[in-house]
Amino acid sequence: MKKQIQMVDLIGQYTQIKEEVRLEFDRVLDSASFINGPVVKEFQADLESYLQVKHVIPCANGTDALQVAMMVNDFPEGAEVLVPSYTYVATVEVIALLGFKPVFVEVYPDSFNIDIEDLESKITSKSVAIVPVHLYGQCVDMERLMSVARKNGLKVIEDTAQAIGANYIFSDGKRAKAGTIGDVGTTSFFPSKNLGCYGDGGAIMTNNDELATKMRMVVNHGQSKRYYHDSIGVNSRLDSLQAAVLKVKLKYLDGYNESRQKVAEMYDKAFSETDLIIPPFRSNFSTHVFHQYTVKLADSVDRDGLNTFLAERKVPSMIYYPVPNHLQKAYSYYGYNEGDFPLTEDLCSRVISFPIHTEMQPETQEYIVRNVLEFVSK
Ligand SMILES: *Cc1c(COP(=O)(O)O)cnc(C)c1O
Repeated sequence: MKKQIQMVDLIGQYTQIKEEVRLEFDRVLDSASFINGPVVKEFQADLESYLQVKHVIPCANGTDALQVAMMVNDFPEGAEVLVPSYTYVATVEVIALLGFKPVFVEVYPDSFNIDIEDLESKITSKSVAIVPVHLYGQCVDMERLMSVARKNGLKVIEDTAQAIGANYIFSDGKRAKAGTIGDVGTTSFFPSKNLGCYGDGGAIMTNNDELATKMRMVVNHGQSKRYYHDSIGVNSRLDSLQAAVLKVKLKYLDGYNESRQKVAEMYDKAFSETDLIIPPFRSNFSTHVFHQYTVKLADSVDRDGLNTFLAERKVPSMIYYPVPNHLQKAYSYYGYNEGDFPLTEDLCSRVISFPIHTEMQPETQEYIVRNVLEFVSK
């Protein structure tokens, strides 16, 4: 039987690393050290060295990572946190959950990342932090963003859930990994992310010793030593089995990201045939690790029609994201209206993402492209 096309082929990837993963699993199972086992520390050290960052704090998922990062700064109730409306809901959710106010910011229509002029115009005396999101795998212009943040005394928490392994390139040519430039970076190891485990997982990154100490306590019930609790914390741990998978997969992350880049280049080339599909823009200050391959469709293309047409031909496609956060029911309390972020709203109505992963076969991709082009040229 022909293999079904997936947005992300996790089985194909597992097949390649099965032996190694099984060996690491056996180590965990034989030691019965399921929480905070040695492999969690090993993975933490490996990730610190890969990212060239002083501290990695593993935790239970990417949403917790954001929440914990936001809990250790003593922000006052009602403080304003600047965040793009065009992002996955988790980025916004934790701000609201902690009693802070999400202040939405527009994105650039080409890179889909936070618009720095609009960001500057939204800063008030209540602003305390910015959460840039390196959307779809490409970095925000961190050099400019950090200068705005420093000038205004704002903390920066980088949501790196979609961009682990991407390089930011400074104007002097120096490079740093996404998530290591702001005060804190956060990431997710959800299975479909570029570095995914086989369940939930996440991590927080920082070069700041004091924040690292606080965050290590918060993920473990605010505990300074056993049964002594200095701050209100949460229970957010990366379990040993997940760390075992991640330790194996981290070695291949750069290779995985290169495979994704190859798939993206092939799509770019194929779609250059038509001006009805606008391929993803590449910023000159960042590499792109293509968590998603997301295009913009011309006005004349019926997006729902394309989605259905592809589905009938067993080609999955997804809309990330159909509704911007400022128009989500959950956040209506903050009083935003349709028209507040025209570029974001326009993107939500015309983007579509095609399958991209580390095991894409050329024949499969040709089949996907052929069907997309057939529909748009009708
Ligand atoms: C996946 C994701 C998260 C949340 O990560 P979880 O591990 O699912 O909690 C946060 N922000 C962005 C941008 C994401 O893509």
